[in-house]
Amino acid sequence: QAKSSGRNQYELYHSDMHQDETKQLKMENYLRKAVEKDEFFLVYHPQVDSETREIIGVEALLRWKQEEMGIVSPADFIPLAEETGLIIPISEWVLKKACEDIQNLHLLGFSKIRMSVNISAYHFNQDSFVKSIYHTIHHTNVNPHLLELELTESMIMPKATESINKLVKLKQLGLKLSVDDFGTGYSSLSYLNRFPIDTLKIDQSFIKKLGVYEEDISIVQAIITMAHRLHLKVVAEGVETKKQFDFLKEENCDIIQGYYITKPLELHDLIYLLENWDQELLK
Ligand code: C2E
Ligand code: MG
Ligand code: MG
Ligand code: MG
Repeated sequence: QAKSSGRNQYELYHSDMHQDETKQLKMENYLRKAVEKDEFFLVYHPQVDSETREIIGVEALLRWKQEEMGIVSPADFIPLAEETGLIIPISEWVLKKACEDIQNLHLLGFSKIRMSVNISAYHFNQDSFVKSIYHTIHHTNVNPHLLELELTESMIMPKATESINKLVKLKQLGLKLSVDDFGTGYSSLSYLNRFPIDTLKIDQSFIKKLGVYEEDISIVQAIITMAHRLHLKVVAEGVETKKQFDFLKEENCDIIQGYYITKPLELHDLIYLLENWDQELLK
């Protein structure tokens, strides 16, 4: 209200801040217990070959089901997990679970489905990162070619030489590497040649604006052309409409991911989709 006094406004502001802090502390406490209470689960977002329309892979996306708060989205707790270091046990859980589910899919006859896992910068920067990946692959006995790590430009660029060393080791283990949210980070593209990566994921923001802004059409076309010249595969993420799908297919974008195909699914729903998948439906 316009007439409320300065003092009241201050108190209101103050109590807001206090509430935020309390909420933050509460969430931190919950997060500490979440690993042992087994409150995390993964959902899987299918990726479709734009040409054959087959499901060739899935991206594992983390979810947290907290008694009081309900389902918390990763955007809301990953930063806190990174601040507190809790991201390490959480990431290790994600990798293990994702690898176990590669094996579960394998047992059901889906032995070619690739699994992409998002990697946190904090985890990637640990000296033990490559070792921890190695152990997970080893213990779950997963075919490393089926595991793809999603990295971001801001994660690998600052210490480029160190990053390249790690990436080379990961490639030697047989993993696939992809750059997530491509186009939002660095303006220099020269690193693409120096980093042993396999895939670029065009950031959703460009896909969303397709058909609205002429420039975004050009950016998407340029990314696809450049990626192919460098022998990289291109994934478009955030594809929600047939129009976007058709455009991207026309431009030879290799792989499509987005709500147009489906929302991210729990494992049993993913299995149902794989068992009943009909490529014709996308035509
Ligand atoms: P991301 O890796 O770029 O993942 C894509 C996000 O876009 C996911 O949101 C996905 O559900 C959403 N998305 C995909 N297609 C569409 C679409 O067509 N429309 C709309 N509206 N959204 C779409 P989500 O699951 O909320 O994840 C957000 C971010 O959280 C991820 O962005 C990733 O950076 C991070 N994240 C998720 N899981 C993990 C994890 O296990 N570890 C780490 N470190 N980060 C994770
Ligand atoms: Mg991702
Ligand atoms: Mg992304
Ligand atoms: Mg992201």
